[in-house]
Amino acid sequence: MRIFYNKFDHYRFSINNKCMKKNILNGIALVALFSMIISLYSCNNPVEAENINSNSPGSSKCYLYLTFDDGPLNGSENIDSVILAEKIKISVFLVGAHVAANREMTNYFKYYVENPYIDEYNHSFTHANNKYELFYSNPQTAIADIVKNQQFLKLPYKIVRLPGRNMWRINGRKKDDSISGASTADGLAALGYKVIGWDLEWQHKSDGIPVQSVDELVQEIDKRRIAQNSFTKNNIVLLIHDEMFQKKWEESELKQLINKLKTNDKYTFEQIRFYPSNE
Ligand SMILES: [Zn+2]
Repeated sequence: MRIFYNKFDHYRFSINNKCMKKNILNGIALVALFSMIISLYSCNNPVEAENINSNSPGSSKCYLYLTFDDGPLNGSENIDSVILAEKIKISVFLVGAHVAANREMTNYFKYYVENPYIDEYNHSFTHANNKYELFYSNPQTAIADIVKNQQFLKLPYKIVRLPGRNMWRINGRKKDDSISGASTADGLAALGYKVIGWDLEWQHKSDGIPVQSVDELVQEIDKRRIAQNSFTKNNIVLLIHDEMFQKKWEESELKQLINKLKTNDKYTFEQIRFYPSNE
């Protein structure tokens, strides 16, 4: 940009010479050419254009989507009670085979349905039996498994998170983390499903114990917000798993996370059906 203006200045100064008229015409032509180049440049770089116009990123409000995958599992009951006490909106992505596994899990599912702060969404019936490559090698059966879950759980919204895949299909936008699964995601989008991935994960070990401390996770969320590093600006989707809250002290970690986030008035908790939200 600076180079363009310098060149323009050069032409402006040369107006004073003998060929003034010719230079004026040249100048007008050049200004038009530069305007065209600048406008083309802006169109090809929407992110840059957006950043120039946005407010200071650290001051922006941010919608936070706490999403819990794989329930019902041991841990779901604790999530339900924390959310009832804290009264914040969350989303759970459910596996039908887990609901059907036994009476206890069927009850946990009912707790979720009855909890006014919790929205239930689709995470497939079988969770791909945890064999993702095989599952996605046949998009037709993968889609059928997800549609079966939708009907089995009588889920009200056509919103799905693919098992084992961080993929997005929403409002004409898409993002894939792998080739396998992309056709399944496309097929679901064609059926009218929104496919929801995540921006950040609260990781856990194989026994369910969280990897990041609450403070570390809050720092990661803050960093994402300030850097505006998420699929949609000012919207952060956090992935958590039900199995992380099987013990009382883990339940209290969830409580601590929510309480810490609540103290920052930049964050608003929202459910996934409202994604993406704007000010
Ligand atoms: Zn899962």
